[in-house]
Amino acid sequence: MEWTPEAKEAFKQVPPAVQAMAKTGIESYARDKGLGVIDIEALEKAGSTLMGGHVNGKDKTSGLNVGVNRRHTMQLTDVKSFFANDTEDPLHDAFDRKMTVHAMPKGKPIKQEALQKSWDKIMNSKEGLPVRNLYIHIPFCETHCRFCGFYQNPYRSDSAEKYIDALIQEMELTAKKTFARYLPFQSVYFGGGTPTALSSTSLARLVSAVKNLFPLSNDCEITLEGRTYNFTHEKIEAAMSAGINRISIGVQSFDTGIRKSLGRKETKEKVIETLRCLKDSGRAVVIIDLIYGLPGQTLEVWEEDIKTFLSLELDGCDFYQLNVFRGGPLEKAVSKGSLPKPATLKEQADYYVRGVELMDAAHYRRLSTSHWARTTRERSLYNLFSRGRSECIPLGSGAGGWIKDCFFFVEGDLDVYFKAIEAGQNPFSFGMKRPGKDLLYRDISYEMESGYCDLKKISSLSHLDLLGVLEPVLSQWEKAGLINLSDGCIYLTTAGEFWTVNLAQIMIDFLQEELGKEDLP
Ligand code: SF4
Repeated sequence: MEWTPEAKEAFKQVPPAVQAMAKTGIESYARDKGLGVIDIEALEKAGSTLMGGHVNGKDKTSGLNVGVNRRHTMQLTDVKSFFANDTEDPLHDAFDRKMTVHAMPKGKPIKQEALQKSWDKIMNSKEGLPVRNLYIHIPFCETHCRFCGFYQNPYRSDSAEKYIDALIQEMELTAKKTFARYLPFQSVYFGGGTPTALSSTSLARLVSAVKNLFPLSNDCEITLEGRTYNFTHEKIEAAMSAGINRISIGVQSFDTGIRKSLGRKETKEKVIETLRCLKDSGRAVVIIDLIYGLPGQTLEVWEEDIKTFLSLELDGCDFYQLNVFRGGPLEKAVSKGSLPKPATLKEQADYYVRGVELMDAAHYRRLSTSHWARTTRERSLYNLFSRGRSECIPLGSGAGGWIKDCFFFVEGDLDVYFKAIEAGQNPFSFGMKRPGKDLLYRDISYEMESGYCDLKKISSLSHLDLLGVLEPVLSQWEKAGLINLSDGCIYLTTAGEFWTVNLAQIMIDFLQEELGKEDLP
């Protein structure tokens, strides 16, 4: 579909993590409205349809966890607008919607022409936080799973090989910089897309390049993300031998019928066989992702998914809440009636609580409100670090990462990416400058996702009276049954854990409003 240059420019303001999903939704909206070209007006109308507003009762997606409803435009005209709903049932009714996927403060976009200069300034200095991560993106998938908003390109061996060559060139360009050489990296994450779709040779080349080019800490966590589909014995061997020490498999559901209906190819038995093979090798930590609220996944099926996971005695597990992306394949299939309606947001709350009960009963260790570890081998360093005080160098088409006070997003269009690499340039398509008190917001986001928030400690670190500023909101949340306050520390109740990102986002928004212009970047 054709886009006007103005619409293309305006689209760059969409947060990179959701750009692929947003583009699909906007183009689908334009097709539905019979528009041949997307201009600024169409973009704005599509944006308001996709991102906000209540879904009316006739809509087949009514009541679902749809899209991402950002609250950033809220003005602090009435403190009550930051309160939870007045309800006896906070788990199901504290808020009408999930507001975001990860809580973060407002930033200011960096102009395209200033991106390279900002990058060079940071990378030519050794200054920065001592915890450093590398995120490396593989933008290919062998199939497009219906529930996913992050699909970029189909996997083809020739384009993947060309991509690995370019990615290694990008790594060489970056690894020479002072910032990349000064302190060791404590975690490396190969995410996607589907890194396990790569050939054995490509996997080995990539991991070896990272190890040769960047200083890594002795206990560096090196994660390979992917699926069991086509993750052959040969590839597993190549990845482990090259130095991968953590494998994160997106299982989503073990149920064969549900898997097939969502575009997953393998049966429950085949998934289990590969997971056992990974575990039995003993060479890497093995964790899986499970999604709750999928179409056809009753509470009983969800319980069975968790029980199957527990029976395998892997190292850990992450729970993800299904988010139905507007205009995406899942919403279309549900609207047409070719897939059953997934669990509503209220039902998802019940699934979450049941999941917590089963993991607690199995005595798994809680690493965050959605991640559990069975063994001490599982540390989930990349995920924990990236929410808190750390730096992250992004590499590869579609990668994003925060370094010092800036966010950089690497160009998602492969042709543009290849051309820039050939010319010896860093192919950034988007950047964002953080607000002045960014570390304060990172502390809040990190601790809230860990199930608590020590405001007394964070107040002292930021030289602000956070308990005083947030008092009206916190006491309303305590009354509403979302948090307990003790000695200046917030402890989330189970209902609060389900609404973690809403609570963290509201705290950040409230503080940014209170701190006013002095905290804008
Ligand atoms: S493999 Fe992963 S990234 Fe690719 S479409 Fe499926 S869920 Fe999305």
